[in-house]
Amino acid sequence: MTRGICILGATGSIGKSTLDVLSRHPETFRVVALTGNQRVQEMLELCKIHQPEQVVMASPEAAQQLQVLLRDAGLKQIRVESGPEALAGVARMDGVDEVMAAIVGAAGLLPTLAAVEAGKKVYLANKECLVMAGKLFMDRVRARNVVLLPIDSEHNAVFQCFADGRGVRRILLTASGGPFRTWPLERLEGVTPDQACAHPNWVMGRKISVDSATMMNKGLEVIEAHWLFQLPAEQIDVVIHPQSIIHSMVEYVDGSVLAQLGNPDMRTPIAHALAYPERIESGVSSLDLARAADLQFEQPDLQRFPCLALAFAALRSGGAAATVLNAANEVAVQAFLDEQLPFARIAALVEDTLAELQPAAPDELDAVLAIDHEARVVAGRHLRRHAAAPSA
Ligand code: NAD
Ligand code: MG
Repeated sequence: MTRGICILGATGSIGKSTLDVLSRHPETFRVVALTGNQRVQEMLELCKIHQPEQVVMASPEAAQQLQVLLRDAGLKQIRVESGPEALAGVARMDGVDEVMAAIVGAAGLLPTLAAVEAGKKVYLANKECLVMAGKLFMDRVRARNVVLLPIDSEHNAVFQCFADGRGVRRILLTASGGPFRTWPLERLEGVTPDQACAHPNWVMGRKISVDSATMMNKGLEVIEAHWLFQLPAEQIDVVIHPQSIIHSMVEYVDGSVLAQLGNPDMRTPIAHALAYPERIESGVSSLDLARAADLQFEQPDLQRFPCLALAFAALRSGGAAATVLNAANEVAVQAFLDEQLPFARIAALVEDTLAELQPAAPDELDAVLAIDHEARVVAGRHLRRHAAAPSA
């Protein structure tokens, strides 16, 4: 019996890496459903290769265009739907056993929760949904007894080194430091979206690439680790490791430090999670340590990377600070990508939004969504101010 897979965010970087791993194991996995946002042509290509039963696009226009292209390609048996209801629908669908949650940002929360509610096995790449709604999400995972496996390379590495969590002193999340780790601070004001998206070690979607450049990505990952491994902020450390060979570490009370290493290629954590507790081929080449030669480590500089400090502070302050942080960051990153906000003001926009809004911890989904919405409105207001200010 093959296992039926749904990929939320199939046209993205994680989605495509997942399809690459799945296609190496057709005897084990069957691609049942794929979802995408707007990229119709890319989805058509994925449909030709993987022949899912069902596809969901974000808008009715994109779905309609895809339908026409599929008919012309002789693939009219593939059902195409659109919109958030349909997105949650494929995550719950009969015939889907397992869901790869690889939509970027808050848009991934509802379909991923739908997969959890339906008791599907969930592979989690979409870290924003844990940052936004960690308690609620994990409560539902536990209530439904859902198997949740981390795809984020750091969390997958920690998971591989964590055993049952007994005797853990702390975890060390490694961070590459992104493309601007060694740039003079005054040059950061003028960086362009393409410069920010040119990550030294990984090819990723644009939002996470910008998050890596500000190190907000590591901040989001600290919060993600808090929920996945049930550790307080005091037991989560970040160390910069520019080569991205060690994907993270776990330190035990006896002084042992276990690390997971490998080439920086997301197919490794994806294959690990898909096969767990077995192991399968991922297509990733063998690690050549002599070639990697020297592995460096350094403390993150919080003046250069204020977003990391903001995320730690949000985790420590609790309440809904992480929900606000995530929403404000999404607004700021989009504005930067749209060239409406200088790179160096991303942190300021998040900080201003956090200073203005301190809602209590949300206990229901509606409350999470309301706080997310309000934070976007407030961040939008601060954005107009920052965008109008002359650059430093
Ligand atoms: P991406 O931008 O390459 O892909 C995002 C996917 O989400 C696309 O399929 C897009 O169509 C879909 N999408 C975007 N907005 C949507 C919306 N409003 N409604 C429905 N679908 C929408 O991003 P990515 O790099 O693949 O990252 C996906 C997630 O995985 C992110 O949460 C990211 O933080 C996480 N992640 C990525 C990597 C990586 O190496 N790329 C590593 C670790 C974690
Ligand atoms: Mg990561």
